[in-house]
Parts: sequence; structure tokens; C-alpha cells
Amino acid sequence: GEIVLSGVRPTGQLHLGNYFGALRNYVKMQEEYNCYFFIADLHSLTTHPDTRELREHILSVTSYYLASGLDPDKCVLYCQSDLPQTTELYLYLNMLAYKGELEKTTTFKDKIKQHPENVNAGLLTYPVLMASDILIHRAHYVPVGKDQEQHLEMTRTFGNRFNHRYGEVFPEPKAFNYGAQLLKVPSLDGAGKMSKSENQYATIYLSDDDDLIRKKVMKAKTDSGPTEPNSEKPDYIVNIFDMMKLVSDPSAIEKYEADFNACTIRYGDLKKQLAEDMVRFISPIREKAKAIREDERALSIILKVGAQKAAENAEKTMQMVRQAMGLKYF
Ligand code: ATP
Repeated sequence: GEIVLSGVRPTGQLHLGNYFGALRNYVKMQEEYNCYFFIADLHSLTTHPDTRELREHILSVTSYYLASGLDPDKCVLYCQSDLPQTTELYLYLNMLAYKGELEKTTTFKDKIKQHPENVNAGLLTYPVLMASDILIHRAHYVPVGKDQEQHLEMTRTFGNRFNHRYGEVFPEPKAFNYGAQLLKVPSLDGAGKMSKSENQYATIYLSDDDDLIRKKVMKAKTDSGPTEPNSEKPDYIVNIFDMMKLVSDPSAIEKYEADFNACTIRYGDLKKQLAEDMVRFISPIREKAKAIREDERALSIILKVGAQKAAENAEKTMQMVRQAMGLKYF
């Protein structure tokens, strides 16, 4: 069957963007494809060099994977650092990635603004490590949010360069979302996307308790309301409606759309509705994840078994890679 690969960095608690951009697709894809889902602990070192919380975050991400519906009998779950084949491929692909193109990557330019004190080479070559994660399994599809579109384009570039230089090994991986378009869940402050490690108060985490969810939603930016019928919505109001599309009943959204067009909308009510729908959506996942997190032994076994299965496929790829490159001398 066709192969799928995707992962999340253990840089903090998972949020609605991770869920709708990534996890929701994983859960469906495990029924149809040959899926590998990993926890990208090596990637987190580029921006989070402090490793003290890493173990806890790995266990937490794994718990949320399982709570969202991933089934270790239907997909392979593993931790990136348990697959050394990835870092070997990363070395070879680094020779096919050019400094200029890496420096032009949007996420690199953003991250060096956020962390000017730590512009390390790993940050620059992040897209190469990501390409290695994907290509090590010879993946066809990569379920990701819109923020990863450019990285995926680079993965195709590096894979194609390898194929042209050394011989055909890698298929061209495509970004994937069941809704056809890649998703971006906006940050509640109206600027950028929800993310694990920036804008904590403008991001709804799957671990947030009900009151915190309500508080954050009620603080989302609005204004005093439209003054002309059928006017265009400002970006921050579009964001609120976009978030409702993820968790609310279509009939409720229609009602607020009509109220907006008639200038009778009350943003307080709109946000209350969104808050309650989010609470209803998130609380069962949060409670399930909490229960799963308690059995550390079970979690570690799932990751160990997953790493073994992932290594089988990765080793196959590396044999093809070394053969194609002529690195088997004797
Ligand atoms: P960090 O703050 O550590 O960079 P992040 O929240 O951006 O973390 P990643 O671990 O980089 O998350 O990404 C995990 C997955 O979640 C990726 O597939 C990414 O595309 C998706 N994702 C992250 N944020 C969003 C968002 N706001 N909307 C949609 N998808 C998202």
C-alpha cells in the first residue's frame, strides 16, 4: 500500500492546530494507508536545547496521539531518535541541499527573528532533516498543516536531486489533508497560527481545562460589530468563524452569519458559542489522554515496538540508498 509519514515536535502541549492540521488526518489515514507517525524529538533541539522536559513531552504527545484515536495495531508509532537511519540519510541529503535555498526558507527566517541568540546550523538544515524523516520511509503522503507546505516542496527537491544524481530511490511525497486544502488554524490574537511554543495565551491546547478554554476564547479579538449590512468581515472575525467550522454545528454558524450580515450580531454570544463547542470537543480528548499518560510502561512499549517496525522499513531504504550511491565498497 501507499506509505504515509508525519510527526509532531515534542516542544510543548498539542493544540487545535496540531489536531486539525495533522492528527485528525492521521486517525483517518491509518485505516487506508501504511502509516508511520513519529515524535520529532531531534527537531525540537533546534529551538529547544533544554532537554529536561523532553521525556515528559514525548510521553504527552504519545498520549494525545492515542487519545485522538491512533491505534498501534494499525499504524507505526515511534520516536525520531530511535531511528538512527534518519540521521544517516540526513548527512547524505545535506550534501544535496544548498545554503542559499535553506536561508530563504520562511520558517528559518521567522525562527531567527524569534531566537536571534541561537541561530544554529540545525535550524538552517531543518528542512533537510524533515526530508530525511519522510524519505527514509519512501513516503507518498504527508498529512501536515499549511505551515509545512514549503518544507514539503523542499523534500521533493532533495529527493529528486538524489534520484537524478544516484538513481531512482524516492517517490515524490505530497502534502495531504482530507479537506483537499491544507489547514491553518489561526492564533486567537489574529496574528499568525496557533503554535506550541509561541503565543501561549492565543493558542488553545488540548490539555487546557474547560475554564481556561472559555477564558482564552472570550479574549479573542473582536470589535464593536459591523455597521453596514453584508459588509466584509475583518480578518480576526473571519478567524472566529473559521474556528467555528472546526467544532460547531453548521446551523449555529449559519445563524451567526445571518446575524453578521444583518448587523445584529453580538460578538459576546458568538464567542460564548465557540467556547462551549470547543469545550465539548476538547474535554473528552484531554481526559482520555490523562488516563493514558498514567501507564508509562505501556507507552514505552508502544514506542519500542514501533521503533522496531520503523527500523525494518528504514533499513530497507538505507540499503537502497547506499547501493545507489555506491557506498558499499566490499
Ligand atoms: P512549534 O511551536 O514547536 O514550532 P507547532 O505548533 O508549529 O510547534 P509542529 O510540531 O511544528 O507544531 O507541527 C506539527 C504538525 O501540526 C504539523 O503537521 C503542522 O503543520 C501542524 N500544525 C501546527 N500548527 C498548526 C496550525 N496552527 N494549523 C494547522 N496545522 C498546524
